[in-house]
Amino acid sequence: MILKEPGILISANDNSTTLPVMEHFYTLQGEGFHQGKAAYFIRLAGCDVGCVWCDVKDSWDVTKHPKVHINSLITQVKKTQTEIVVITGGEPLMHNLDLLTELLKSGGLKTHIETSGAHPLSGKWDWICLSPKKFKAPIHDIICKANELKVVVYNKSDFDWAEKYASLVSRDCKLFLQPEWDNAATVTPMIIDYIKSFPKWELSLQLHKYINVP
Ligand code: SF4
Repeated sequence: MILKEPGILISANDNSTTLPVMEHFYTLQGEGFHQGKAAYFIRLAGCDVGCVWCDVKDSWDVTKHPKVHINSLITQVKKTQTEIVVITGGEPLMHNLDLLTELLKSGGLKTHIETSGAHPLSGKWDWICLSPKKFKAPIHDIICKANELKVVVYNKSDFDWAEKYASLVSRDCKLFLQPEWDNAATVTPMIIDYIKSFPKWELSLQLHKYINVP
């Protein structure tokens, strides 16, 4: 690999320099520990986890989305004032993210990932948000490295499931419970009561949906 300037790559145009992208946009992080901060989101296509309540099912089929050169993504990111780039999906770890994150970091940007943890970790990360799903279990290596555990609560049984993963993450890992959006009216009061009983947890709301930004 040859670096022309920090964060920009010149190299052969092979598969390692492109990624399937569903969408990318500059907005505010709406969830978890970094909620409310400006962040550039890159939503990669492809997911084999199969959550029944998934709100981005259009991301599942990788063939429906264009492959975008990494340079093009970084050029778009650099047009903004963002300090944080969030790689999400889909399940972003279905792709090797070493090159993308290396270039983002060499350009002075913080790299965050939102992952179910169901595929092997690649890339260099300043923040790993692990959101495990019942439909495909996370890999142990990612559980140990998570900076944030964010469990989507769909029904009452999810509290026990959340505690299972809270017992496996590192001591410093931040713990969040987030209501599943379509069930929020029912489960948010349950989450509030649960956090009052077990204050190691915090509430994560999908703030972006309340303020109507992407
Ligand atoms: S892991 Fe994420 S993108 Fe994949 S099915 Fe579950 S919620 Fe949807």
